[in-house]
Amino acid sequence: MRIAMLCYHSCPLARLGEREAGGMSVYVRNLAQALGRQGVQVDIFTRRHNLEDPQAEEIAKGVRLIHVDAGPPLAEGSLAPYLPEFERGASAYAEAEGARYQVVHSHYWLSGLAGLELAPAWGARHIATFHTLAEVKLLADPEGEEPPERSPAERRIVAETDAIVVSDGHERELLARHYGAPRDKVTVLPGGVDVETFRPMDRAEAKRRLGLDGKRVLLCVGRFDPLKRYDLAVSAAALLQERHRVEVVLVGGDLERDPEAGRLSKLAASLKMDGNVRFAGTVPHGELPWHYSAADVLLAPSYYESFGLVALEALACGTPVVAARTGGLSTLVRDGETGYLVPLHTPECYADRIEVLLANDALREAMGRAGRRRAEALAWDAVGLRFSEFYGGFMTEEAVR
Ligand code: UDP
Repeated sequence: MRIAMLCYHSCPLARLGEREAGGMSVYVRNLAQALGRQGVQVDIFTRRHNLEDPQAEEIAKGVRLIHVDAGPPLAEGSLAPYLPEFERGASAYAEAEGARYQVVHSHYWLSGLAGLELAPAWGARHIATFHTLAEVKLLADPEGEEPPERSPAERRIVAETDAIVVSDGHERELLARHYGAPRDKVTVLPGGVDVETFRPMDRAEAKRRLGLDGKRVLLCVGRFDPLKRYDLAVSAAALLQERHRVEVVLVGGDLERDPEAGRLSKLAASLKMDGNVRFAGTVPHGELPWHYSAADVLLAPSYYESFGLVALEALACGTPVVAARTGGLSTLVRDGETGYLVPLHTPECYADRIEVLLANDALREAMGRAGRRRAEALAWDAVGLRFSEFYGGFMTEEAVR
């Protein structure tokens, strides 16, 4: 089987934690690699964002990353205008290589639009994964900004694609309610986690390595986006500082450019927490297990997460998670078993749950073990197998022949 993945707007090898590079890049890379290990040929098409990138490179067994010229490499702002150039470039590459794809799996709405053009031209089926949806983001954060063309484009993709894959059942409901997606067009296939890289490290050693000895560590990991509500982590920690030596560690973000970084440091100063909030900046993905292991609790207070990859990585490292009861987090985190789900976005609600965990070592350890078991069920090899079965069942008869 040969499949094309379209990942137009962010390169799966880009530096994680900054601007556009987040969970989707990790997801695409890991899914492609897991498929490659099963003998599926995967070509990932992405926009060239760096002139030094080779046109095509093998990034894992059976997996090629293909950079297609579309707009200036360091384009700022909307990438929509360059989409036709991307489609032409991907077509020309496939034609020159004589590549025949049975399935096109597109990621995010811009790639979904490209998939609507490329899949029929290649005689392939088109499967779309949105990762996030404009209507849902706006519901979660009405002040957030989305390009006006995004929602109509998502509606068109929902109507015209052959199938939609979502990571969690709540997304099927959201697609039905806000986009009129027929439920039988939407398949729920959870994403996975790399359980070899993300595994429990010795907590005391992890704290020592990161200079967090003797501290109670509350960790947040991700892009600095107001939707992530890291302010709640800082305000909740402020409520606990009289009883515990807490340190909030914020991993991710471009500290020079993200306005959220400035807002968070002002908030920390106003709560007299500036000595107890560490802005760690982006951390290479492979080093994150040390951060997760050093943490007593991973906080995910987001307004919304479609899947909640960071929470899953923390669980894989045996760290309990206190998360907002929203989106995919509600499924990944089992309330009272692998952490807590918090129904309200208030510092008091978070502080209350964090306090229960900080006050009870045995509970934290038991939840950490339960979290690891939960993550093992979502190891990428098992998840990849489910995807290849799904793709196989979905190919056109013509493509199978
Ligand atoms: N990440 C990373 N280094 C950082 C910050 C984030 O490797 O400094 C990774 C993190 O491990 C996770 C992904 O980026 O795999 C973020 O995924 P998530 O779905 O939680 O967030 P989003 O897609 O909203 O950015």
